Amino acid sequence: MIFTVAIDGPAAAGKGTIGRAVARELGFAHLDTGLLYRAVGTRALHDGNGVIDPVWAAEIARQLDPADLESPDLRSGRAGLAASKVAALPDVRTALLDFQKRFARRDGGAVLDGRDIGTVICPEAEAKLFVTASDEVRAARRHAELGTGTVDSVLADLRARDARDAGRDVAPLRAAADAFLLDTSDKTISEGVAEAIGYVRDRIFAGRG
Ligand code: C5P
Repeated sequence: MIFTVAIDGPAAAGKGTIGRAVARELGFAHLDTGLLYRAVGTRALHDGNGVIDPVWAAEIARQLDPADLESPDLRSGRAGLAASKVAALPDVRTALLDFQKRFARRDGGAVLDGRDIGTVICPEAEAKLFVTASDEVRAARRHAELGTGTVDSVLADLRARDARDAGRDVAPLRAAADAFLLDTSDKTISEGVAEAIGYVRDRIFAGRG
């Protein structure tokens, strides 16, 4: 069965948690596409001694190995900012396109979360969710997850990242016209997950009808 669930939205809105839960519930494969950009950004910063060279970043993206996505360092705030810098480079995005497209249409169903899944990677996705939450809620969640810095510094980083993601020329962050909007600000994790699963199940039944 080919069935793609595309989940987009700003940083720390709950996409990853929801994506993993939907994939587990349906037995689909899951890809956190942010990890691709985090892996490229982290290596590009390291190799350039803190400066990102666009040509080298694209080369790193072309050579990326799925094993590179396993590193625990990729979850840091620094990796997130580096990711949003390389993610604005068209050649980096092009290098990562095929892998994501193939993953989305693999047999057995796939859930991908990111910024451009429903708009660029897989506009034909059978189910599309756009997950949001207020800036303050997202910062508090990310701060609890990271366990470092202050909520205010995390909030400033998130806003800088969102502005870069939404303002870039290539594949900017935006909801697909046919996406189901899910605001998780006032929801518990299980409420958000249940709503997402309910929507995806409706889409599966709609496809069979
Ligand atoms: O989702 P996560 O916070 O891990 O993403 C890190 C960064 O990678 C984002 O801020 C964004 O710049 C970039 N990204 C992207 N397209 C995606 C996934 C992530 O541009 N599909």
